Amino acid sequence: MAVTTTQRFEVFKRDKFICQYCGRKVPDVVLECDHIHPKSDGGSDDMTNLVTACQECNRGKAAKALGSRDSPIQAENVSNQVEKMKQLRMLNEMLSEEREHEDEYLRELGAYFWNRDPNASESYTFTDEQISAVRPFSRKITVDKLKDLMDATWRKSPRHEFAYFIGCCRSFLEMRDV
Ligand SMILES: [Zn+2]
Repeated sequence: MAVTTTQRFEVFKRDKFICQYCGRKVPDVVLECDHIHPKSDGGSDDMTNLVTACQECNRGKAAKALGSRDSPIQAENVSNQVEKMKQLRMLNEMLSEEREHEDEYLRELGAYFWNRDPNASESYTFTDEQISAVRPFSRKITVDKLKDLMDATWRKSPRHEFAYFIGCCRSFLEMRDV
């Protein structure tokens, strides 16, 4: 059984669309699924035996094993372009999936933050602007620390809670990165 398109996507996604041998990624290279333990040698199509490799790394390896494979250069370029487009679409799909998860996470943080407001009459979450402001910090600060900073904000109960919280995130990073 050959590696299916879905399986390939899962392998690329796991490896973040980066060649695990040379570190290059889409769209700089065309990616392939490499069998760590060669199929010809009884290697399986299991995810654990598959790794993302760029064409050069993979074929370099294959060439040693199988001898050079001739293909008309023109035809190869065209199919490479098509493949590259397809992989870019896959990459974008992964990125938008990740973005959705991140937005969901940020909305949960927003609910945590604003539900601490003693004057809130109903539960609410971050606005789009607030999500944009928190996003860079949410990528560098753990959820536990973010919640600590939120708790500290509400204990302090400043006039502009959100701005104060963002200030806390900024100084936390500055202190940590010194
Ligand atoms: Zn490579």
